[in-house]
Amino acid sequence: MKYLYCFKCGSKVEKIEVEHRERAYCKKCDIILYENPIPTVVALIRRGEKVLLIRRGIEPGKGGWALPGGFIEMNESPESAILREVYEETNLKGKEAKLFDVIHYNSVFYSSILIISYEVLINDFEPARPGDDAIEVHFFDFDDRPRLIFEPHENLLQKWLKREN
Ligand SMILES: [Zn+2]
Repeated sequence: MKYLYCFKCGSKVEKIEVEHRERAYCKKCDIILYENPIPTVVALIRRGEKVLLIRRGIEPGKGGWALPGGFIEMNESPESAILREVYEETNLKGKEAKLFDVIHYNSVFYSSILIISYEVLINDFEPARPGDDAIEVHFFDFDDRPRLIFEPHENLLQKWLKREN
């Protein structure tokens, strides 16, 4: 249970069982404070027979290779979020984001997360350079690339490459 205090009134919450799960309940507001997975987005980007990966400059996964991506901001659509994240981390402007897969993952760092993956189409790869969480942007051969630092990224990439080839 994540909530210790009610986010509406600040009172200490109680633990109650609802729908077979332990929930945070605020007696004063008479509401259950539901906890849900955190929505995130990742991008699968190909350039010919290569895949774009970024090397992470911050934790979690600092120094490791990953798919570009991040959290969806408030009032932001998942498509806008992935195009923004790709631009921030690689300086590339996505032309289109095509939904690939949606998975759930129990992250040690963030707990329960929902990962929405997109194939992002790029017209112009010339401006590619790292930014934000990324310290390197590189295009790897499909069959000669580093293993990704996050297990769900690796699984998504493998699934995507199988579909592509
Ligand atoms: Zn309350």
